[in-house]
Amino acid sequence: MGQILFFDYCALPIYLLIIFTIFVRKTTKGSSNVLYIFLTVFLTLTTIIDILAECYGAFLPFSETELFFFDVMSFAYLVLRNISGVIYVLFIITYTRTMYRFKSKKVRFLFFVPELIVLLALFTNPIHRKIYTVSAETGYSRGPYIMLLYLVALIYAVFGSAYLVYCRKFIETRIWMALLSMYLLTFLAVIWQLLYPRWLVEMYSSAIACLMITLLVLRPEEITDTSVGLPGWQAYKAELHKIVTVRHPVQILVLRYMNGGNIRAYIGEEAYQDYVRKIAGILISFLRSIDDSVELFYEGPGTLYCVLEGESEEYDILPDIDRLRQIVSENTREYEAAGVRMEGQICSIMYPGDADSEEEIIRLGHEFTNLIPPAQIYVKATEFVGTTDYEIGTRMDVILNKAITEKKFEMYYQPIYSLKEKRFISAEALVRLWDDTYGPIPPGLFIPAAERMGLMPPIGDYVLESVFRFIADNDLKAMGLDYIEINLSVAQCLQENFPDRIKELGDRYGINPEQVNFEITETSYDDMGSNGEKNIRQLMEMGYSFSLDDYGTGYSNIRRLSKLPMKIIKIDKGLIDDLGTESGKRIIKNVIRMMKDIDKELVAEGVESEEEVSLLSELDCDFIQGFYFSKPLPVKEFVSRIGKAYEKKRSSDPLTPVI
Ligand code: C2E
Ligand code: MG
Ligand code: MG
Repeated sequence: MGQILFFDYCALPIYLLIIFTIFVRKTTKGSSNVLYIFLTVFLTLTTIIDILAECYGAFLPFSETELFFFDVMSFAYLVLRNISGVIYVLFIITYTRTMYRFKSKKVRFLFFVPELIVLLALFTNPIHRKIYTVSAETGYSRGPYIMLLYLVALIYAVFGSAYLVYCRKFIETRIWMALLSMYLLTFLAVIWQLLYPRWLVEMYSSAIACLMITLLVLRPEEITDTSVGLPGWQAYKAELHKIVTVRHPVQILVLRYMNGGNIRAYIGEEAYQDYVRKIAGILISFLRSIDDSVELFYEGPGTLYCVLEGESEEYDILPDIDRLRQIVSENTREYEAAGVRMEGQICSIMYPGDADSEEEIIRLGHEFTNLIPPAQIYVKATEFVGTTDYEIGTRMDVILNKAITEKKFEMYYQPIYSLKEKRFISAEALVRLWDDTYGPIPPGLFIPAAERMGLMPPIGDYVLESVFRFIADNDLKAMGLDYIEINLSVAQCLQENFPDRIKELGDRYGINPEQVNFEITETSYDDMGSNGEKNIRQLMEMGYSFSLDDYGTGYSNIRRLSKLPMKIIKIDKGLIDDLGTESGKRIIKNVIRMMKDIDKELVAEGVESEEEVSLLSELDCDFIQGFYFSKPLPVKEFVSRIGKAYEKKRSSDPLTPVI
């Protein structure tokens, strides 16, 4: 009597559906996904052959050609069915990213030996006919050595199940259950088929297991960042969890593109994804030549994590950076031609060593950019882990929340000198934070952290209130000052009622808007959006003026600058520091000339020496701010020193009032 094909018929659409979803959901990249595609395709083919062979059976006795095809089909069925077992084990190993455990060539070879024996036996079957036979009269019948196939399948199944048990501690339960279901269901199907040989349920049971894996294990929306087709943030976290659970040594190279968000806004989402995909592709093939097991993860808008084996020495990417940049340039010409270029910083983290928990690794990757100078391209985490700044960073949320509730902030003021009028014309208000444990905390550390944690508005409110009170309490005119500069953060500018609040403050303290100038950094102006710009324009209409801070750290071109509503541009210390070199001098000269052409006034920030002052004076810079004249000072000291300097100037007109 023939077999009951009902279950095979049901299995087929399930497999086809799975293959369809694999391609629709784009879970096609990465070794485990590729293996899974092989697995499902093989199982589909096995099912099709199973059905065909059964239908073929109706044509008994076979003609010679029919017999030949039937033999080929039986052969293909057994080969595909057997290889599937091996592929599934490989899928488990790659999915759990534990391939590194099988580094030795001998172990890898041993792993394949049973399967090689089976294949050898199957390929030589036409000669010895010990595995199966086909005859024109009776069709397919098992040979005496068919048990070899079952035995090998059992060996791989036992190995795979044991391996899953071993991996239990770092795989989520639902994923673990789904992976194990393949073995459990196949086991049940084999028993069923032993009891009821006519019911072909094996392929159906595998189909159900595959369905569970597709639904519960692959989940590309979480694992793959669909925008760029790379494993995403969740996958990175899962990888770290696994690494830390088994204490597997790794080296992680974190590449952060500081201007990723801006470039995305500039060239649009789709082009940006294409750009990142290209860069990631270059990085992968480059790193594969160093470590073939490297894995790449992507976190938007511009962070790539490369996980390398960390058992050997730390790989130093620094000597290769120029070459890498060049390859990226060559392959992304179309973007660079459009004036776009990603500017990244790289940090190398060794686990264990630099960081010992998942949270620490994640934090290092997120925060290293705050701990190194903007111009530094590469840093090894060892260089800053353990420093006080790093420790402060670890506890920043506690420090900031405490400072906000206990009002541990204080305003300092740094005077700004006018080269034309030869006097201090204004001052910049700079916030200071004092912590009982760590003492003074530099704004360069806590301001970016507060911005990330969404704590800038309360700090900004404190700053505004203090400065307005300062202006009300002190007679600026008597100190010779025209206005005070206040730094604004994006979060403040975006506040719905920001202009109203400024108006309320101004009224309360009786401030003339001309006494206040707001500073917005070049980079944060890019993130302002229409709401922020609307607020800025409204404040301008009220009589407040604005400066563009830290010019030279962003990507403004002259056309854009000419359209900005700011009268004053502050040149960042980074540019001023280069005044000592010929090219630096030329750059500043051109910047100043350009700015003058579009009718801007210029402040040079971070001026520390007399040579810089005289050079800037020659180059026609308007204002100077820097330690050469004065560091930021607490209110009392500032008022007394600036007052005295003004008195002195009125009586003797000094050229360089160093105070
Ligand atoms: P910024 O607005 O560009 O301020 C100028 C920074 O340069 C200040 O650093 C100042 O102390 C420093 N500086 C001035 N002259 C020299 C010099 O000759 N040499 C050196 N090495 N440094 C000089 P500070 O006070 O540490 O502030 C750092 C940044 O923190 C500020 O850069 C600003 O972006 C931010 N910040 C400070 N106070 C506030 C605030 O009240 N609100 C907001 N949103 N940001 C603030
Ligand atoms: Mg400033
Ligand atoms: Mg600045």
